[in-house]
Amino acid sequence: MRRSGQPYYPVVIIGAGPAGSAATIYFARKGIRPLLVDKARFPRDKVCGDGIPLKTFQLLADLGFHEHQLFSRGFKIHQLRVYSPDHQVAVFGTLKPDASTKSGCVPRLFFDDALFQRAKESAANTLLEYKLESFHRENGRWVLTLRHRTGRSVETVETDLLIGADGGKSRVARLSGLLTPDPAHHFDGLRIYYESRSKEFEPAVHLFYDAKTLPGYVWIFPVAPDRANVGIMMDKSCKQRYGKTIREIFEEVLQENPRIRRVLEGSRPVDRIRGAPLPLGTLPGSRIADGMMLIGDAAAFINPVTGGGIYYAILSAKYAAEFGSQAVNKGDTSKKQLMPYEDWWRRTILPGFIYSGWLKNKFKSEKFTRWFLGKVSRNRLFANFFISVYGRPLPRHALINPWFWFKIFFLQR
Ligand SMILES: Cc1cc2nc3c(=O)[nH]c(=O)nc-3n(C[C@H](O)[C@H](O)[C@H](O)COP(=O)(O)OP(=O)(O)OC[C@H]3O[C@@H](n4cnc5c(N)ncnc54)[C@H](O)[C@@H]3O)c2cc1C
Repeated sequence: MRRSGQPYYPVVIIGAGPAGSAATIYFARKGIRPLLVDKARFPRDKVCGDGIPLKTFQLLADLGFHEHQLFSRGFKIHQLRVYSPDHQVAVFGTLKPDASTKSGCVPRLFFDDALFQRAKESAANTLLEYKLESFHRENGRWVLTLRHRTGRSVETVETDLLIGADGGKSRVARLSGLLTPDPAHHFDGLRIYYESRSKEFEPAVHLFYDAKTLPGYVWIFPVAPDRANVGIMMDKSCKQRYGKTIREIFEEVLQENPRIRRVLEGSRPVDRIRGAPLPLGTLPGSRIADGMMLIGDAAAFINPVTGGGIYYAILSAKYAAEFGSQAVNKGDTSKKQLMPYEDWWRRTILPGFIYSGWLKNKFKSEKFTRWFLGKVSRNRLFANFFISVYGRPLPRHALINPWFWFKIFFLQR
């Protein structure tokens, strides 16, 4: 329904990454076909580790994707190796491929395009190479100004529900004032691809907690037998603490860490180092406003220890569609009607972010990290506790049970 002669869509989604594309599919399933807008043209790259945990594949199956479709351009992973600052290794899983996939690495160039192509079929319309410039409230609706990459054409659209899925530098989050970037809840990430001519990468992902990268880590995630995604994520305090930029630290650690050198032996970088921000899930602030919801990185839904956000992007898309479609169908997208979404994320994903955020802060100390990862490599309870952060969330009741923490810190020597 048009009120002011401008095109109208009940739902407009800004950003067609995993969050925006998944939200488009989920809204269509509820009978509402959104307008999907992205400033890029697909396929497009996204700086990431390309690591897709098992729980994400379960969500993707719910969206109608089969493992073999995604792995046609990626690599199945069977083992996780975590290296402590003193180079002890904790190993999870075996290298023998079995029928069940543990997790995988799929370059975002392909992964996001697969999701976007499916979303395109579900959307009422897509606008690519259009950037959300500004938005304002008019007669109880949002009026959005979208500018083409060339700057020559400008589109104005109206909507009852604006979904901010525009990533870690979200314009929707910033202009609405819902979230303000805060260095205490923020990591920076860098990524570069390596190729190997002389040997194949094993189907294992490697996390290196080097003394110079704490509380972050360097990773090596193979995306093919001869290609690996190599990256680092760190907090902003590195300049202050080490007098070096994250890029300088990354280059230094790649040269100096013997474990990293061994895994990368015989391979060489094949592109340039690129960076992107990681807003962490502990960032304070509401993810809803009148006629507005934030999902994925725009909502800062990134695990503070792992830096993983693809799972939360798709999960938050699902619940935004669930509660957002109810509000649209009622004809009332006020903040009050969208409150079930706010309640959902605070109840279900925030507790995990808080506990990962606590661990991330403990990882600032080399002494703690050595002690903790040493325990992880030798003790099953610690190993389960640690792996729960990476892949298999612990039930909430375990986290709030004092006996669980007592066992972790006092009974296990
Ligand atoms: C270095 C690094 C490594 C990471 N490694 C992993 C990992 O291994 N596993 C994992 O699960 N997560 C990882 N993450 C996090 C993961 O990349 C994000 O959580 C994920 O991309 C979130 O998806 P999204 O759809 O919310 O945002 P994005 O994927 O960033 O998509 C946002 C989209 O919005 C578009 N957009 C932005 N602004 C506008 C605008 N104004 N107008 C129109 N369109 C706009 C962009 O073009 C983009 O397509 C990593 C992140 C970084 C930085």
